[in-house]
Amino acid sequence: MNRKIVLDEEDIPKSWYNILSDLPEPLPPPLHPATKEPISPDDLAPLFPRELIMQEVSQERWIRIPEEVRDVYKTYRPTPLIRATRLEEYLKTPARIYYKYEGVSPPGSHKPNTAIPQAFYNMKEGVERLTTETGAGQWGSALCYATALFGMKCTVYMVRVSYNQKPYRRILMETWGGEVIPSPSNRTESGKKVLEADPDSPGSLGIAISEAVEDAAKNEDTKYSLGSVLNHVLLHQTVIGLEAMKQMEIAEDEPDIVVGCVGGGSNFAGLAYPFIGLGKDVKAIAVEPVACPTLTAGRYEYDFGDNAGLTPLLKMYTLGHDFVPPPIHAGGLRYHGDAPSLCLLYKHGLIEARAVKQVPTFDAGMIFARTEGIVPAPESNHAIRVVIDEALKAKENKEEKVILFNLSGHGYFDLAAYDDYLNDRLADT
Ligand SMILES: *Cc1c(COP(=O)(O)O)cnc(C)c1O
Repeated sequence: MNRKIVLDEEDIPKSWYNILSDLPEPLPPPLHPATKEPISPDDLAPLFPRELIMQEVSQERWIRIPEEVRDVYKTYRPTPLIRATRLEEYLKTPARIYYKYEGVSPPGSHKPNTAIPQAFYNMKEGVERLTTETGAGQWGSALCYATALFGMKCTVYMVRVSYNQKPYRRILMETWGGEVIPSPSNRTESGKKVLEADPDSPGSLGIAISEAVEDAAKNEDTKYSLGSVLNHVLLHQTVIGLEAMKQMEIAEDEPDIVVGCVGGGSNFAGLAYPFIGLGKDVKAIAVEPVACPTLTAGRYEYDFGDNAGLTPLLKMYTLGHDFVPPPIHAGGLRYHGDAPSLCLLYKHGLIEARAVKQVPTFDAGMIFARTEGIVPAPESNHAIRVVIDEALKAKENKEEKVILFNLSGHGYFDLAAYDDYLNDRLADT
């Protein structure tokens, strides 16, 4: 049996899988921020191109992937599915552990799976510039990469704490031609307001979204792009799970447990939704930080996607749109809400959620790096923590569990975080 299961370019999915066709109840509609009435597709037109708005509300089970998008996917897809045999041996577990490695993309995470189609559809509709926010810099770099490939400009509002912690991500974005602004900034009214109240604000994804949305809404040739949470983003990420299903078949194995970390829900959904929606009997576990426990401690209610209240209201588990999480290293997991489809599935008990502390996630990432070799992103360490816990539980119960998880990105731009861990400077607040 091969340790690494690699597919041909022909095996890149030809359609994305849309879980909206298979939800236990219809998704509560997004509400207009001012009127609190359900929004119409026209309300979204200043921010998104028509094709993405159609995908956002589509109930079709399968949505065709344009050949131009598949062609760019071919640079790094299909991504490998790897059996973590060395980790299994280290843990002495009877569990079989597999990981889908999304760190092989040029920016090093799953995020280009949606950045590429988003840039493509905007370019097709004549948009010249995209604005966005970024936490750890993963999403910003994915969008700068994608816009560069389609000849567009990109402005990235980067959460200030990450801007300071992760200069190499900024340089990567600038290398791909992007303009990077630390948020909160003086460029926008929403940024100015936050700075007036707190000149030392570390920023948050919610604040950065407000700035990027405001910038796009004020400029004709510019639209906005979101890296998680929205239906069309999760849709694009299903290439991960669709490939993994084929690869598990080749491995002649079936996952009992599927694990992913959750910031807004896109990499978890990308891997888990095809398994859940297409009738596989899996236990899907969404892992979040204790510092930002959206599913495990949030409330299921309508809330804004951003800090200033400019975005439509989404029905989701939320910690409140003014919640500013402590500056943990997994910047991509510092978001107050989660994708509405994920929240609905959680409410119905179709997925589970766990919250884990920062130091134990790095303990897990360190074991992974020293057995499997790849240094994981701090976000991905959250998934690995739960994978190890589940594998040890299987050992205790003498069960041959099959665990599949999403290694959503590598951590080679996050070595300062590993340095903090190695020198005992990491705290659990
Ligand atoms: C952004 C990011 C996440 C969290 O975002 P989701 O939308 O929940 O996937 C997780 N892992 C990595 C490596 C990321 O870059």
